[in-house]
Amino acid sequence: MRRKLVAGNWKMNGGLVTNARLLERLASDWTVGAGRELAVCVPAPYLAQTQAALTGTSVTWGAQDVSEHRAGAYTGEIAAGMLVEFGCRYVIVGHSERRQLHGENDVVVGAKARAAREAGLVPIACVGETLAERELGDTTAVVGGQLAAVIEALGDALRDIVVAYEPVWAIGTGRTAAPAEAQAVHASLRSQLATAGAADVSILYGGSVKASNAATLFAMPDIDGALVGGASLDAGEFLAIGRA
Ligand code: PEP
Repeated sequence: MRRKLVAGNWKMNGGLVTNARLLERLASDWTVGAGRELAVCVPAPYLAQTQAALTGTSVTWGAQDVSEHRAGAYTGEIAAGMLVEFGCRYVIVGHSERRQLHGENDVVVGAKARAAREAGLVPIACVGETLAERELGDTTAVVGGQLAAVIEALGDALRDIVVAYEPVWAIGTGRTAAPAEAQAVHASLRSQLATAGAADVSILYGGSVKASNAATLFAMPDIDGALVGGASLDAGEFLAIGRA
């Protein structure tokens, strides 16, 4: 079922004291409207703190990356089963920062999405083109190829994922895709998902979403919510995006 979801990606930000303030505010001020969900994807060391602060509230949480392997000699990696033990519902896979800075390719992203699903997590699979790719007119081919790898890796488990369209040129830049521009890409992703039997997968938009631009993006028929970076660190701003 298409869910309305606003998920925060804290990236490598936070600290015990500031997290406590932020989580407390989300826990107390987020009142769920039917079918709307607010989630935070926090750095792994803060999962226990997040679980303690949000258990029993209507805010859900997750991680920002996961290993494609179940267990073993993978120093520094975190298995999907470990995230489940900390109450995670979501895990981001294939964020452009992982693709660009850590060399993750489509095959790895697909394997991570599969490992997440096998453990019962909902992967938030990110796709997005660079500015150069957009200017060459390659947006649909690039994001379509990235999504195809996830579709191929997941098979029947495809229905239980979330996709996030995040144009790389809009992440952390203050430059947001125009709603119609984002909608066009979402529609093409939706049609690709429909062909694979998963038309009801939620597709989030990500890239400099703020309280001031969220409503116009969410008015688009194929935009089901947002993956929010910078603005998710500010409780008032993040709650306002959730309410939008
Ligand atoms: C992100 O990191 O997923 C993101 C969308 O960042 P920002 O909202 O800061 O552009």
